[in-house]
Amino acid sequence: MKTIGILGGMSWESTQTYYQLINKGIKESLGGLHSAKIVMISVDFAQIEQLQHQGNWHRLGELLAHDAKRVEAAGADMLLIATNTMHKVADQVQDAINVDVVHIADATGEYLRDAGVTKVGLLGTAFTMEQSFYKNRIADRFNIDVVVPNASQRQLVHSVIYNELCLGTINSESRKAYLEVIDSLVSQGAQAVILGCTEIGLLVKPEDTPVKLVDTVQIHAAKAVRLATQ
Ligand code: GLU
Repeated sequence: MKTIGILGGMSWESTQTYYQLINKGIKESLGGLHSAKIVMISVDFAQIEQLQHQGNWHRLGELLAHDAKRVEAAGADMLLIATNTMHKVADQVQDAINVDVVHIADATGEYLRDAGVTKVGLLGTAFTMEQSFYKNRIADRFNIDVVVPNASQRQLVHSVIYNELCLGTINSESRKAYLEVIDSLVSQGAQAVILGCTEIGLLVKPEDTPVKLVDTVQIHAAKAVRLATQ
């Protein structure tokens, strides 16, 4: 079995889900008392969030690259950056290490392609919904149209992520608001909606809506399990 490296803590609320899903996946795959071999560095999210909102992505890339090297030195055979947003600096991280970064947008694109989805809605932080690093990767590599919420909806989705979900707050009013945004993406023609922030699955569950939800944590963790057991 290969060792899965994780850069976590962005936020730790969703890193817990990664840890559980990866261990459950290895147990399902190998049975018995098997569990995952994991090396993780969990960062202080306050510093990350501050640099994000200052737009200091180069410094963020340096910080994650530094920690990625430490994860590799501790024996990781691959690296998961356990957040969608920080994939903005995935190339800078990849350049610093010799093992592969398992890119969350590629894992998601592969899943959507295999499911036959050609137009998808995207929820995430404003960085993920508005900038090109994520949307274009899915559109260009997998030939899938990506639609995002309107400006006021994006602001709401972003604010709930940083002011509630990353602090462990689950609010039913926010769930209702998210479900309305999801419905508006479907009315724009989306056949499924990417939960493109690793905390959104803590708020919105498949049983809350008939719309097909594509949870990036589940897809990313499942790909790591496949790679680890291949
Ligand atoms: N975990 C979130 C994501 O998947 C947001 C926190 C962050 O900015 O890293 O984008």
